[in-house]
Amino acid sequence: MLNNQEAAYWCIVRERQLYLENQTLPLMTPKQLVFSCENARLIGHFQGKPVYWLEVTESNDQGRFYSQRELLHLDGELFSLAGKATQLSHMLSSQAFCAICGARCVLARHELAMHCQGCQAHHYPRLSPCVIVAVRKENQILLAQHPRHKTGMYTVIAGFVEAGETLEQCVAREVMEETGIEITNIRYFGSQPWAFPSNLMMGFLADYAGGTLKPDYTELSDAIWADAAHLPPLAPPGTIARALIEATIELM
Ligand SMILES: [Zn+2]
Repeated sequence: MLNNQEAAYWCIVRERQLYLENQTLPLMTPKQLVFSCENARLIGHFQGKPVYWLEVTESNDQGRFYSQRELLHLDGELFSLAGKATQLSHMLSSQAFCAICGARCVLARHELAMHCQGCQAHHYPRLSPCVIVAVRKENQILLAQHPRHKTGMYTVIAGFVEAGETLEQCVAREVMEETGIEITNIRYFGSQPWAFPSNLMMGFLADYAGGTLKPDYTELSDAIWADAAHLPPLAPPGTIARALIEATIELM
């Protein structure tokens, strides 16, 4: 139950965008909120404070909803909770109908899942596993540029896991497909939920084993071996991509 006197973090989501005040999540009591919070759901705690997800459909304050990317400056744990809220919001719209019987689904009362009104099945949020890998060749790192990144930034190689594939096979396949490079010494680094819309990024470090750089221009606009001393504009701090790049540079 909500305690009207207790300050909490609020992940207020409308169409997968978050309500922000002063570029951060509001930290306030339910009474101070400008939204009705009857439907708020507890999704975690941060520094001893509850964190709630509240789905809203309309607001008088149209200008204050932003992409979760605006929160990359926050502590990683709070950033991930904001992503949890936007992923749950995505679940409400993308899993509104039962994949088994086709009936309407609603948010389950006692868990963060969808409950089918027809066959009573529970459907959990659908996540897409992705790998992301930084490849080192002596004092150089393999970086790619994607047409979808309008800023022209460079980042490491990433891709979706296929059915029947281990994470290590996926890492080697993605690097080969996108750049023609063979890799070795693949080791796990860490992970980051990435709510755009519902990816789970699993990060790896790897070393160059062979091959000549041949970027796949259907996927990439460029791929380069970048010297640690001359790096192009990079993925922003707060992303696992940036953490992988920094960890690789430290190994040089
Ligand atoms: Zn059903």
